[in-house]
Amino acid sequence: MPKVSAVDMPDLPKGKLPEHLEVQRTRVVCKPDAPIHTEPIHYSGAFASMGVDNGVTLESFCKNFKIEVVELTEDTMEFDMIGIDASLANAFRRILIAEVPTMAIDKVYMVNNTTVIPDEVLAHRLGLIPLNADPRLFEYLSEHDTLNERNTIVFKLAASCKKGSPRLTVKSDQLKWLPGGSEVPMESTNPSAKPRTYTSFSCSQDSLPEFANKPLGVQHQDVLIDKLGPGQAIEFEAHALKGIGKVHAKWSPVATTWYRMLPEIILLKELKGADAEKLVKKCPVNVFDIEDVGKGDKKAVVANPRACTLCRECIRGVNEPQVELRRAKDHFIFKIESTGALPPEVLFTEAVKILEDKCDRGEDGVQALESVHLLLNFIIKAVIFGIKRAPWLDPMSMEKETFDDINEIELSSLLFKVWNN
Ligand code: SF4
Repeated sequence: MPKVSAVDMPDLPKGKLPEHLEVQRTRVVCKPDAPIHTEPIHYSGAFASMGVDNGVTLESFCKNFKIEVVELTEDTMEFDMIGIDASLANAFRRILIAEVPTMAIDKVYMVNNTTVIPDEVLAHRLGLIPLNADPRLFEYLSEHDTLNERNTIVFKLAASCKKGSPRLTVKSDQLKWLPGGSEVPMESTNPSAKPRTYTSFSCSQDSLPEFANKPLGVQHQDVLIDKLGPGQAIEFEAHALKGIGKVHAKWSPVATTWYRMLPEIILLKELKGADAEKLVKKCPVNVFDIEDVGKGDKKAVVANPRACTLCRECIRGVNEPQVELRRAKDHFIFKIESTGALPPEVLFTEAVKILEDKCDRGEDGVQALESVHLLLNFIIKAVIFGIKRAPWLDPMSMEKETFDDINEIELSSLLFKVWNN
């Protein structure tokens, strides 16, 4: 390539980044040994000399942000979250795992246990059984609270295996909800005192309108609790409380939740014949395919980039690179697997509300917090619209005056401040 003096180089078109910088800005490039360009470029003036504004305004965020629901079942949801920074996507993931509350068994009063499983192991197993109880209808138990119908769910289980009978399997469907509260009497030193139990319910939970038509119970009926041999028995009462996964994993509302950046596979040159077939065979998840180009010629094409697991088989051990593996920095394939207490789409909107609540508790300027509120509200609306498969929401039709007021604010720096508070 002939050498060109810097002064003779052609001017770059204003307002557009050259391709290599655009790739650096928007993509992570996966090389055989390690990925490069992994850092997001947040500084709004990073490309100011080329006339490109790298800032984020609320208006531009709303214009570019999209949620596309790919799969939605009772317990799982996969959706594409497009036009968002990794820090926000990761905040939602962490909140989903550790901060969205659920109800879980926390205390077990063992009346009898002659099975081979020790009391503490059994109590731990019981804590991990997902409960069919909407945590939004309950309150947290604080230090000075008594166990009442608003903060506790009581279950009991009694089973025994007669001598000479085959082994008895005890499953979660045998946990019986006690809407009236505990039935286990508390020990008292005064024999003439009125017997008390471990809860102080003022009314039966099934008389409350929210539980009248939806009895509380376990989410899955077939979770194995214990196996009783002939002559063995088990009897206990279990109290479920509201909590969050940060305190104990049993309160996490998700089996797991994760995201990955959208894969982008670029063929750097046309591969035909044997070379094309060799490439197709290398990929274990069939990202590539062979396309007939006529006259008996065949070439390799990228058929299913979304399936790429980044195993790097296609870029390993080649002298001349044939393929470039990229990941879009602002496009996340997000998956939520709920344990069942709340549907996955509700879990996500709850996570967004929790983040909004955290912003309220931040100490930054009021205007910054207002912007973040709007942004998070927009995300909730986008999820709901994505789920309903409605035509895409026109952000400018929403609360226009408020958008006009603040659309000059650079959200990236505001969010950065909020995260750091
Ligand atoms: S990285 Fe692995 S999964 Fe992805 S395209 Fe290459 S061979 Fe296929």
